[in-house]
Amino acid sequence: MVVIGLEIHVQLKTKSKLFCKCSATYRDVEQNSNICPICTSQPGSKPMAITRRALENLLKIGLALNCKIKIDERIYIQRKHYFYPDLPSNYQRTSLPIAYDGMVSNIRIRELHIEEDPGRYELRKGLVDYNRSGVPLVEIVTDPDLRSPEEARMFLEELQAITGYLDATREEPGSMRIDANISLEGGNRVEVKNINSYKGVYTALKYEIIRQGNLVQKGLKVEQETRHFDEAQGITLGSRKKESVADYRYIPDPDLPPILVTESLVTGIRNTIPELPRDKARRLVKQFRIKEEDAWILVSEKEVADLFEELAKEIDPQACASWLRGPLKKQLNYRNLLLKDSGLSKQHIKELIQMYVKNEITDKIADELLISLFKESKSPRKMAEELGLKTISNVNEIEEIVKKIIKESPKAVEDYSNGEEKALHFLSGKVMKETKGRASPEIVRDLLKKLVGK
Ligand SMILES: [Zn+2]
Repeated sequence: MVVIGLEIHVQLKTKSKLFCKCSATYRDVEQNSNICPICTSQPGSKPMAITRRALENLLKIGLALNCKIKIDERIYIQRKHYFYPDLPSNYQRTSLPIAYDGMVSNIRIRELHIEEDPGRYELRKGLVDYNRSGVPLVEIVTDPDLRSPEEARMFLEELQAITGYLDATREEPGSMRIDANISLEGGNRVEVKNINSYKGVYTALKYEIIRQGNLVQKGLKVEQETRHFDEAQGITLGSRKKESVADYRYIPDPDLPPILVTESLVTGIRNTIPELPRDKARRLVKQFRIKEEDAWILVSEKEVADLFEELAKEIDPQACASWLRGPLKKQLNYRNLLLKDSGLSKQHIKELIQMYVKNEITDKIADELLISLFKESKSPRKMAEELGLKTISNVNEIEEIVKKIIKESPKAVEDYSNGEEKALHFLSGKVMKETKGRASPEIVRDLLKKLVGK
């Protein structure tokens, strides 16, 4: 049996840093421009009380993960000591658990903390950029309830969908770091540190299962250790440095008052939580009678699910669902984009699906038009008309082309007559090529069967 637990650090969405008023923007700005004496720990500087929005966003996540919240209890912020150039104070401020005992898809959530991000140290150049120093993070700790890399990936996808719905975290590259604990049955626990993506978690866990399995097979012992994930090679590497809880020398930060969460704050936040992905998927299946697997993919981004609901009022829901999860998701994933950041207009997507559903354009042309929408925001209906891309469904017109292709391809015709189905694909491919993908595929197939059969 494989036992996996995760610690997920995600940046909370706020305008300012956790303990000062500096902007929390650290990407695409000049190095060390969003800094002040507090977030660079100058002598004599004192942190301000934590940024309220950071706490609110953490509570939102806690509630959405079905956690209990520590209400009216003093929650101390601790100093976790370690020494590295990205951490000018030599300690990272991290709170005691604020939310605890949650559950998502049968995975227990142990606790949520709030903490500050360190700066960024560029080892090769010897540069430190403190723009990130003090950016608020939530640390989400699961119980060791995951049993495979696949399960970890599914859990993380759901978590990402949830935080996206809440609009509580930053969704940009590098805004998340994950530590994964993994052990094989009876073996020691290995901690893999600093994985930067959900995909990375899957790769690191796969690698560790093989590495630990090989050791066991050779009769060797798996050492309890901390390893680092090398994303480029997809492997984990042992590190020399040993760390244990005692080494961090946790103490409560005497400069900061404890956090106090009131019942009314929690009630207020609970009321802002929208319908979450899992509930939405269930409702879409019930309300629109679409396939469950389609619904689950649609709800992974709130904007896609919302678009579906809007379109499904006018267009056949299942056709809509299939097209959004298929061609649209494919093009978005290929560009590593979310719908909300894609620049695609709802109106254009609607036109495209309408034309496709009414067989005005073939699926191939629909794909091509979608691709051009990423380059130019223009009505796809106009584009189709201007470029003459509408489906040819005039049987006589297609018949002429089919006859021509049959004439040109005696070998394929003979093969088909001898029962080779593949030859039919070959022939219809030629017809589609001749018509630049515009011939109705159904009519082509029917014609070929009729004419070749003779
Ligand atoms: Zn600052």
